[in-house]
Formats: sequence, C-alpha cells, structure tokens
Amino acid sequence: MTTATATTAETVEELARTVVRERPPATTPTAELMGAWYDAGLAWVHFPRGLGGLEAPRMLQTAANRVLKEAGGPEPRTVNIIGYGIVAGTIVRYAPPELAARLLRPLATGEELWCQLFSEPGAGSDLAGLATRAVRDGDDWVVTGQKVWNSLAHLARWGILLARTDPDVPKHKGLTYFLVDMQSPGVEVRPLRQITGRAQFNEVFLEGVRIPDAMRLGDVGAGWAVSLSTLSDERVGLGDRVPARGAGSIGEALALWAARPDRQTPVLRDRLARLWLRSESHRLTVERAKVAAGHGVFGPEAAITKLVASELNQQVYEFCQELLGLEGTLYESYTSVLEDDDSPTPYQRKFLRSRAATIEGGTSEIQRNIVAERVLRLPADLRNDKNVPWRDVPRS
Ligand SMILES: Cc1cc2nc3c(=O)[nH]c(=O)nc-3n(C[C@H](O)[C@H](O)[C@H](O)COP(=O)(O)OP(=O)(O)OC[C@H]3O[C@@H](n4cnc5c(N)ncnc54)[C@H](O)[C@@H]3O)c2cc1C
Repeated sequence: MTTATATTAETVEELARTVVRERPPATTPTAELMGAWYDAGLAWVHFPRGLGGLEAPRMLQTAANRVLKEAGGPEPRTVNIIGYGIVAGTIVRYAPPELAARLLRPLATGEELWCQLFSEPGAGSDLAGLATRAVRDGDDWVVTGQKVWNSLAHLARWGILLARTDPDVPKHKGLTYFLVDMQSPGVEVRPLRQITGRAQFNEVFLEGVRIPDAMRLGDVGAGWAVSLSTLSDERVGLGDRVPARGAGSIGEALALWAARPDRQTPVLRDRLARLWLRSESHRLTVERAKVAAGHGVFGPEAAITKLVASELNQQVYEFCQELLGLEGTLYESYTSVLEDDDSPTPYQRKFLRSRAATIEGGTSEIQRNIVAERVLRLPADLRNDKNVPWRDVPRS
C-alpha cells in the first residue's frame, strides 16, 4: 500500500518533470497540460488518488508547481481561480466520489470555470443572514433570490450556492449548500463595473432555478458548516499566495524604486525597508503555517494570513503611488474588460485593485473578529439574533 509518507518532494518533482517532458507547456494546449497534471495527482497533492491528488502532505504542492513554472507552464490557480482557490477543497470534502470525479477534472483543466454565489445585497459580513430561498420540489430544489459581487460569474459554468431552506430556525441552522449549473434556465448574470474600470464581478439573479438534490453538498440545513470550509480555503488562498523572497508586490515596489532615482528620499527609503521586512516576515509565517498544517486544512488561523496579506498589499501600492507622485493620478483608458488580459498592469490599476483586498473574502474587521474569538478565545461579538428564527430577525 502506498502511504502519504512514501511521497516525498523528490517523487513529486519527478512526476511533475515527467508531465512537462511529455507535454511541453510551450506547445501543449493548457487544458491538455492541466489534464495530465490532474491525472498525475499533481493538481492538489494532498487530495485522494484518482481525484487529482497523491494523498501527500500539502506543502509538497510548492515543489510540483515550481517544476511547472520553470518549464513555462501556468500557475495552476490562474487556470480557474475560484475553482482552485475556493471550490475544489469543498468538493473533495463533501461531494460523493462519483460527483467529485465528474467535477474536479474539468475544474483543474479550466474547461469548466466556477464562481461563488454567497454574498447578497443584505448579507455580506453577515452571510448567515442571507435571504435566497431554496424550496424542495420532488427530486429538485427551486431557488429564487439575488446574489452580488460574484467574481467571474459571467464566465462560469458552475457556481457554489448558499441558500435558505428553512426560515423558521435561527439563521445559521436553516442554510443548505448547492452546486448550481450557471446555464440553468432562470440564472441571469449582470456584470458590475469596478473602480479599476474592469467588470469582473456581477449581480446574479436566480428566478425559479431548478437544482437536482444530487447537487447538494452536506445535509439539508447543514450548509453553514460546509460554507465555513469554503471560506477557510478562501482565506488561505487569499493569504498564502506568497511569492519568493523579494518577489510579488514588494518586488514591484523595489523595481519602481530602482527605476525612479529622481523620486527617492530618505523617508521613502525607510518606508520601503519596513515594507520589505513585513513582507518577508509574512512570507516566513505562511511557510511555517503550511508546514504546521501538513495534510490538513488551515484552521481559523487562516484569518491572520488573509488579514496581513491584504493590508500589506494595500500599503505596498500606497507606497508606489507616493513614489510616483502626480504621475500616480494618471490612468489608462477606462475600458470595461470582462476577462483578464495579458498586458502588464500599471501601478495605478494595482493601487485601485488593492482597495478590494481588505473586503473580498471577508473584511479585515471580520478577520479580526475571527482571530479574537476563535484563535485568542476572547469573548464573542454581541449577537442578539443567535436563537431567533431567521423569519423573525428584523431586516432593513
Ligand atoms: C473584489 C471582490 C470580489 C468579491 N467576490 C465575491 C464572490 O465571488 N462571491 C461572493 O459571494 N462575494 C464576493 N465578494 C463579496 C465580499 O465577500 C463582501 O463584499 C464582504 O464579505 C463584505 O460584505 P459587504 O460588502 O456586504 O459589506 P458589509 O457586510 O455591509 O460591511 C460593511 C462594513 O461594516 C463592517 N462590519 C460588518 N459587520 C461587522 C462586525 N460584525 N464587526 C465589525 N465590523 C463589521 C465591515 O467590515 C465593513 O467595513 C467580493 C468582494 C470584492 C470586493
């Protein structure tokens, strides 16, 4: 029997080298390359064999991805950002194996993109207060409601959906988690324009959308627990994207510094040095957390990495704006772009995009609440709706 401990960084690297040797990234279509990557168990090395994994320690993923990158392949996450970052872990934990096998391969190859249908106009931080209703009708559920801020919903084939199936119990208890086919009748996606000029998130209207009961994850009424595992993965995904030492956003700030000696001052030099130190201590903290997590998922501690990464990201681009001076106020044409293009992103756009970092995936205030309550075990936030049936909770 092959055990997890039998899989080492060397065996993972060897498997990865075999995939890129047989399918050179430069000449292989991405879907084919990533299909071979999945079949070799390299999509998520900690997943079960046959479902894109090797049952190996999670930290070995870095070794596999490095080989892919050095061969000119994509960073896997970018192939299906929400699929890899948020959805896959929940599918493997909660979907029956046949359903997981059906969904995970096209997710890994990018042939079926995913979106997250959680937030609503009246339920963001207070996600458990959401109002979208799912009513049982034979073997199906019929869903009606409105979601908002749904990244990539305009491109997605599938969505993860949290809906209320019982309004007569307290809010956390009446939720159920579904996988929805975005091509179903009754799904309407309307793009929203962001501060950057791009339109990468959407409103999604659901009007009598039928979802087979077979596409439910977890028990009826147990959707909150399922969504917590998704949200934890999301925090990890947003917080553990740490590039190599001196690379990423801090690397860009260093490059801008070097390119603009005319704008350098001792005060800005001190600020850049402090940002570099914070970036490096964040990188090392995440590396330590990955080792500590081993096979398992990160716990509420993921809130710490998400909090630090998003605030640091903003501080680095604020620094770049200050270094640019008035130039920082110049902006490229305000065209709405529905898909990512490959053109280099100017600092100005990165600065504007960074404003969302402390909101998406849960605001910094919410991350601090999680750290306070679930890591430091401080007294919980006051909740006057905890034992009240959702139907009776006052709403604006
Ligand atoms: C770029 C981007 C992409 C997104 N993508 C998706 C997506 O794909 N799918 C999806 O479902 N959602 C998505 N979201 C939505 C995101 O999850 C929510 O915006 C976020 O959870 C905050 O909810 P809200 O906007 O309703 O703000 P609110 O919850 O209304 O919060 C308003 C303010 O009140 C503060 N606040 C609220 N409650 C508390 C509290 N208890 N204690 C202290 N302060 C509090 C908040 O921190 C915030 O400052 C995205 C958001 C952004 C910016």
